[in-house]
Amino acid sequence: MTVRTRFAPSPTGFLHVGGLRTALYAYLVAKQNGGKFVLRIEDTDQKRTVEGAIEGIIKSLAWAGIIPDEGPEIGENGEIFQVGDKGPYIQSQRLNIYAKYAQELLEKGHAYYCFCTSERLEDLRNYQQKNKLPSGYDRHCRELDQSEVKSKIDSGEAKVMRMKMPTEGETVFNDLIHGEVSFKNELIDDQVIVKADGFPTYHLAMVIDDHLMEITHVIRGEEWLSSTPKHIQLFKYFGWEVPKIAHLSLLLNADKSKLSKRQGDVAVEDYAKKGYLPQAMVNFVAFLGWNPGTEQELYSMDELIKAFSFEKINKSGAVFNLEKLDWYNQQYIRSLSFEDLVNVSLPSLIEAKLVDKNVDKVWLAKALSLEKDRIITLAQLPEALNFIFTLPEYDGQILVWKKSSFEEVKNILPRLVEYMNTISVQDWNKEKLQTMMGEWVGENSFANGIVLWPLRVALSGQQNSPGPFEIAEVLGKDESLKRLNTALSKLK
Ligand code: GLU
Repeated sequence: MTVRTRFAPSPTGFLHVGGLRTALYAYLVAKQNGGKFVLRIEDTDQKRTVEGAIEGIIKSLAWAGIIPDEGPEIGENGEIFQVGDKGPYIQSQRLNIYAKYAQELLEKGHAYYCFCTSERLEDLRNYQQKNKLPSGYDRHCRELDQSEVKSKIDSGEAKVMRMKMPTEGETVFNDLIHGEVSFKNELIDDQVIVKADGFPTYHLAMVIDDHLMEITHVIRGEEWLSSTPKHIQLFKYFGWEVPKIAHLSLLLNADKSKLSKRQGDVAVEDYAKKGYLPQAMVNFVAFLGWNPGTEQELYSMDELIKAFSFEKINKSGAVFNLEKLDWYNQQYIRSLSFEDLVNVSLPSLIEAKLVDKNVDKVWLAKALSLEKDRIITLAQLPEALNFIFTLPEYDGQILVWKKSSFEEVKNILPRLVEYMNTISVQDWNKEKLQTMMGEWVGENSFANGIVLWPLRVALSGQQNSPGPFEIAEVLGKDESLKRLNTALSKLK
């Protein structure tokens, strides 16, 4: 048996970080078992469908390195095409399939037409609420006489189709995360499976598709746990095998409330825009509610594929801790090769108009290395590196080291500039500069800080900055001396 998992988002907007986690786990399970990962678009609720959402979901998944084996993809001209032999993978293109199976349920007596008006259902809800009765449909139309049903249909009354839930017994299933779960059938609604507009509801479409697409593991959010008995019943009515099922806990804010848009960004694309690396996001999301129980914290996608297991998933909600994401991001930025660092940061530097696409990449790598260990997100780079391109305005007072004085700097800095002028362009690299300056400081018996502090401030125009020799190398001799002369003029 080939393991086949699916991610089945509704295209109602951006990809939520919780959705990314669901997709990731489903992807890991498929890949761990040499199986297939399917992307299916659940757009049977046309009112909620948002233009461009399918593209957004595909792009966000691809950014994270999750490429479905089957499902919709984006072509070169932005068009959507579908890959795989069990499609279409967009539910609105499968309506005839659902209609056929709905008819089958009806004929076998597992479903019925319901003509209840929304007013009646509203009254029912109010009545149940007032009398503290369990909520849900009262199965009013379940036992309608066939001739009555026919005449209502003939006279064009609006109708939906509902499944018949057994009114006795329990539905028991083994959730891969929650273990055995059981529901009393009598408490479960006769779910609408075909809406008045003829579209199937999620419940019917999902069961049919999971069967036809040969899904072996259903991995989804906990909000669907209470619907699962209905799905299991539908699988049984059709005589189909029920896939393995896993429900993932909710993502929570630090205050344990459900993670929502109001408390910050929940769209994957926003994190990409803010300069988080996909590796960091994936690693972070993987650890939301899952822990392999080892010391290792940094996992590549391949390592996650090997390490993932349902047994190590927590049943309780996972707190979405952004500090942890920042930590992962810093680790991954530090581990980037210079080539990769240049590639991932070039677009934002171009956008900030600091460089153009013809910039010398070797030089840029050096400039980036100044900030590589200091930034949390790539989005901080343009601002962090701005001082390389334009010397910031600064007050001459900040040239004075805390254990030194204005007079001392005024005395030493001109001598330093004079000496640095004698260093050749060939020797103008951080190693040589460090050695030569070290010797000069030693010969003159200066304390390091007295010399290096004003040198660094003069070169960066900032109180906090990378080290002076690294900056000097990136700036080159001419610019460095220009900046030192600017510093001298501030000491007058
Ligand atoms: N369309 C559902 C959702 O977006 C999918 C649930 C499932 O995976 O079965 O949550």
